[in-house]
Amino acid sequence: MATESGSVPHELDPDAFRELGYRTIDVIADYYDSLDDRPVYVQAAPEDVVAAFDEPLPESGVDPDRILDAIETDVIPYATHNPSPRFFGFVMGGGQPIATLADAVAAAVNMNVGGWHPAPSGTEVERTVVEWLADAIGYPTDAMGFLTSGGTMANVVAVLTAFRDHTNHETRQMGLQGEDRPTYTLYVADHECHSSIYRAADMLNLGRDAVRLVPSNDDFTMNVDALEARLDADEADGDEPFCVVGQAGSINVSAIDPLEDIAAVCEARDVWFHVDGACGAVGAMLPELADRYAGLDRADSVTLDPHKWLNVPYECGAVLVDDQDALAETFAMHAAYLRGSVAETPAEFDYYEFGPQMSRGFRALKVWATFKHLGVDGYRAHLRGGIARAEHLHERVRDHDDFETVQEPNLFIYSFRYAPADVQAAFEAGRGDETHPGEPMDRVHEYVDRLNQALVDEVVDSGLAFLTTTLVHDRRTLRMSICNHRTTDDDIDAVFDALADTGARLDADWRPEASLPL
Ligand SMILES: *Cc1c(COP(=O)(O)O)cnc(C)c1O
Repeated sequence: MATESGSVPHELDPDAFRELGYRTIDVIADYYDSLDDRPVYVQAAPEDVVAAFDEPLPESGVDPDRILDAIETDVIPYATHNPSPRFFGFVMGGGQPIATLADAVAAAVNMNVGGWHPAPSGTEVERTVVEWLADAIGYPTDAMGFLTSGGTMANVVAVLTAFRDHTNHETRQMGLQGEDRPTYTLYVADHECHSSIYRAADMLNLGRDAVRLVPSNDDFTMNVDALEARLDADEADGDEPFCVVGQAGSINVSAIDPLEDIAAVCEARDVWFHVDGACGAVGAMLPELADRYAGLDRADSVTLDPHKWLNVPYECGAVLVDDQDALAETFAMHAAYLRGSVAETPAEFDYYEFGPQMSRGFRALKVWATFKHLGVDGYRAHLRGGIARAEHLHERVRDHDDFETVQEPNLFIYSFRYAPADVQAAFEAGRGDETHPGEPMDRVHEYVDRLNQALVDEVVDSGLAFLTTTLVHDRRTLRMSICNHRTTDDDIDAVFDALADTGARLDADWRPEASLPL
């Protein structure tokens, strides 16, 4: 398609667009077809990836086919393939193909969903999606909310709304300036407080110290008695608690806090109750889990991330706020816009009045398309699949002498530890033996920490799977997030077997030198 002069026109001509578009679809379809066979993690050295893109600003244009060539040869092979069925890192959805198509259309139509007039259908699709999300998780469907870049920004919006509400919106003008202010504080369980809560406190200029950690129970959930004690103590110190964050799906073990009890504490004290359900709130779509999510509907705000367990491609988070006016007042720019969300006509509804962004992309279309494609039924089957895979992994861990459990399975995120059987026996004995506390067992723990990290590194380098380690009770732990709809029990078995084999080999190699005090 190169033009004779070697220059390219200002845009693709329609025929060229079609041709290139068909080729692009082939590239994408081939990519999806290849997922099972691809190394999940890049098999090139970081320097090679750098080299592939190290080129100067292009002075003149090239044939668009060459751009697609480069995407095929450099971008796709040097990606980490979270669409792969054996991608278990972080909390990343695999992406639904229908959403890929919807996103392409959204880019073409290119609406700016900041306001109704620039985006009539875009605004209404987003309003519909927000209502569907609320409906799906049993949250009030007249809640106000919108899509965000992700859970972090959704949490920032929720915590800001809580804070403005607490200060009767007076801080909207004054910020934190001008007079002696108390220390405003927010609360989250100590176990797995997601970094985004610190980010929110930080961005609001409350400071990260404003985040107060509440002791957890043995099952990693917030201890609500401890919450009350902490609130009492902080109030006695002159602090002003304004928000409690309950987690619906924590980052390492997918624990669900006792939401009903936290809601009661917050209501009694008139403190904002925010549920960070970035990874796990959508589990409330399952009727069989209703007990565990009880109280979610009493939250003042909820964060959930369609780009996680719902497998919508990046980026897509969401925030829901029960009190529409609280959200409207938080972001209103001047009085003329201050009409809450209750617009007189749909055409007066502008998303930019309710959130931090002015120009806004059409994120909603990919969520809308995926919900229509799968239906709640399809999504429920997918969510159950993730939970079943985590339970299957738990069984494998329990049945193997050289692994130890660190949790009961909850949702789709499951952490566990490689620990050779004799080491586990030593831990047991060491723990119970008051006469030999301390140092020697610390060396064993450090050895096992190292072992767990090394075996994950080997399995990831091999390309078989991508997973990470994390810290649970300050110990290096294997962690798998099983949120991809393509994952089967066979994938879990393949990874578990590789971890077991690698662990045994590394232990056999290292043990003689380590001379552990077992
Ligand atoms: C992932 C996650 C977040 C942050 O979401 P992003 O979409 O990555 O910004 C916040 N809280 C929890 C519990 C999470 O799992």
